[in-house]
Amino acid sequence: MITGKNYIGNIRSSEGTKTFTTFNPQENKRNTSVITEASIEEIDKAVALAANAFQVYSNKTGLEKACFLRAIADEIEALGTALIEVYTSESGLAAARAMGERGRTVGQLRAFALHIEEGTWVAASIDTAQPERQPVAKIDLRKMNIALGPIVVFGASNFPFAFSTAGGDTAAALAAGCPVIVKSHPMHAGTGELVASAIIKAAQKTGMPNGVFSNLNSSGIEVGQALVKHPSIKGVGFTGSIRAGRALFDLAAKRPEPIPVFAEMGSVNPVIFLPEALNEKAVDWAKIYAGSITLGAGQFCTNPGLLLGIAGEGLNQFGLTLAEEIIKIAPTCMLHPTICDAYESNKAKVVSQEGVSVLVDYEDTSQNNYGRQIVSKVSGAVFLENPTLHLEVFGPSSLLVICKDAAQLVQIVNNLEGQLTGTIIATDSEIAANPSIVSALQNRVGRIIFNGVPTGVEVCPSMQHGGPYPASTDARFTAVGVDSIKRWVRPFSFQAWPNNLLPAALKNENPLAILRTVDGVKTRNKI
Ligand code: NAP
Repeated sequence: MITGKNYIGNIRSSEGTKTFTTFNPQENKRNTSVITEASIEEIDKAVALAANAFQVYSNKTGLEKACFLRAIADEIEALGTALIEVYTSESGLAAARAMGERGRTVGQLRAFALHIEEGTWVAASIDTAQPERQPVAKIDLRKMNIALGPIVVFGASNFPFAFSTAGGDTAAALAAGCPVIVKSHPMHAGTGELVASAIIKAAQKTGMPNGVFSNLNSSGIEVGQALVKHPSIKGVGFTGSIRAGRALFDLAAKRPEPIPVFAEMGSVNPVIFLPEALNEKAVDWAKIYAGSITLGAGQFCTNPGLLLGIAGEGLNQFGLTLAEEIIKIAPTCMLHPTICDAYESNKAKVVSQEGVSVLVDYEDTSQNNYGRQIVSKVSGAVFLENPTLHLEVFGPSSLLVICKDAAQLVQIVNNLEGQLTGTIIATDSEIAANPSIVSALQNRVGRIIFNGVPTGVEVCPSMQHGGPYPASTDARFTAVGVDSIKRWVRPFSFQAWPNNLLPAALKNENPLAILRTVDGVKTRNKI
């Protein structure tokens, strides 16, 4: 049952006076549960609990934390269909999507459990003493990653499970040994509360300290800002718009003690179509891209919003078929009327720009809050001159840019803002013959795709989900996969420290049997 209360550590609490409700975009009506926004006093309590919990939780072993993460996954699954129903009622997304995303979320938690149970992730590095070294003796130094401190995670509107309450950032921070305070996304606050209840249950069952997790409701920017400014908070995870991500990044940088903000923000995910590939398979690629552009009503950070090609018969064929195919796809519900309104106005802004023409526009407006697809077209020269055309239009929209030649295509790619992904559709010989296009794209993105689509983000250690700004605020880190644990740690060295007082990962005996670097050699051996 949804109570609308916050979780201040293990306690449900609703001391604030500001309330709000979520919205069912499918039924175009408000949901009935009343959610109470966290008060300043509740924010302070949650942070104080997290700071206390950090002292205990950061010293839990990998096995203990893994047990906690697995229990969270189990408790989320135990919520069953009730959770799926709340998810769909607050997001407009289908039950099948909810179940898939729940699977991904519990899969992430279990993957982190395995990762920390094994333990090598701490990157233990040991340089033993050499008292005889000339001209000066070398001292014993041992380094490993340790937890950063209490972390704030902002739930993302477009992933109520996988990038929200128990999503990637939460799983990674808890795995690292950091207590987490979630600033719940107001669009799916009920879903957030249910998932939070699963985390709290798991924490209690596995003996984790009170304050290891809190969930705070909000319907405005105040709660998030108060959390980011709080001196006991040591890091922030965010997924959403450039405007909000940048505001939080600036806020964190202005603190007396600046802290890292790992924000994953907008991206238009350019796709380059080279002529030979289109001459061979323009129709096939058009069908595939009609599906990718409209997937999930285009509400994915990897949605292909920019299609680049060189003028010619293949590109003409591609554009015509894309228009024919995309119009056959039935539009689907967007997350919220505000997201749908933003989509409509951003679409209108693009098509009102000089030199832009509409290739295809789904015009049936009978369904409220549905994302009606559009593909527009512009020349390379106009695109280069107009920064408005470079902005993300969050929804099923894509802009086809007709470049006059390969040189103009490279110029456009070089001028693009940082992106999560870049895709090249080419024959083998074409990709080999165009290293300048490949290297230009590699410079602007975090992940490069050959003959595929950018939508569909596999969760595995080799995934890089993050790219040069503004795709993310720090391109060195990923938001997806077990490597994202690196966001929430800092390297720490012990100098000449007694063996019996060292953490297990750095002891001579290597009791965790982890892979370490000892005097420059990777080994699991004892010292
Ligand atoms: P958003 O505007 O980025 O907001 C995300 C969260 O940040 C919300 O919880 C919001 O709090 C908070 N926030 C916003 N501005 C803030 C500020 N100045 N200071 C502190 N907190 C702030 O995202 P959204 O509301 O989910 O969606 C709006 C637009 O974001 C979409 O239309 C889309 O363009 C973009 N978006 C992009 C992606 C992507 O993956 N690229 C994903 C989701 C959304 P409150 O809501 O409580 O005010």
